[in-house]
Amino acid sequence: MPAYVVLHNGLQELPRRWLAHGQPISLSVLRRPSVKDLLESLGIPHPEIGRLLLNGCEVSFAPVVEEGDRVEAFGQQPPVDLLAASLLRPALNAVRFAVDVNVGKLASLLRMAGLDAFYDPGLDDVGLAEAARQQGRVLLSRDRSLLRRNLVQHGHLVRASRPIEQLAEVVRLYGLHDRLAPFSRCLICNSLLQPVDKATVLHRLQPLTRKYYDSFRICRACDKIYWPGTHRERMARLLLALTSPAAASGR
Ligand SMILES: [Zn+2]
Repeated sequence: MPAYVVLHNGLQELPRRWLAHGQPISLSVLRRPSVKDLLESLGIPHPEIGRLLLNGCEVSFAPVVEEGDRVEAFGQQPPVDLLAASLLRPALNAVRFAVDVNVGKLASLLRMAGLDAFYDPGLDDVGLAEAARQQGRVLLSRDRSLLRRNLVQHGHLVRASRPIEQLAEVVRLYGLHDRLAPFSRCLICNSLLQPVDKATVLHRLQPLTRKYYDSFRICRACDKIYWPGTHRERMARLLLALTSPAAASGR
């Protein structure tokens, strides 16, 4: 006798093989899998799951599924509160991300929006998963096999293919509209920028920058200087438009 799995909230889109929406999926449980293993056998990375019911009771990933059991799995429901613990994963201390190379441009956009984004293209999958776990970060990737690793607690399988839409996807999922602070963070190294007097950096500025700009910020970690400019203002408007609550609700 098999066990039955029902998928809700977008998880129906994730299994590798086609499944009729809303229909229970029957799966063999002869090997006595955990709830987590049973769902991952369908190709669903565990970080995508927001809530689990086993025979109607809310459970963690750990219980063993027996013959005749009914598992209901719900996708992450926005806005996901990363600072609150659930049966499935502990709370994070802060909203922070670790970005995989397959969504590398998203790292720059997160930083541009003022969000904390770790990015190190030199790390392999294990190194990245370990860094995310140790630093308490949400792992953002398009690689299911990376997100299925046991090391990963908080993660998201990025759906959008354009970087700016990936940013909007992350902002919507975690309800980050109120946390955006464009151009408060260094695009190169992720450190927070500090205001700096024009006189202090005058010798490093090009003549036109000296002439037209009076407000400067500096990254104390990598020494890069930032100032308002047309490119920056255009990007700020784009960020705010794409990630506004009105855009999120489709109005
Ligand atoms: Zn920097």
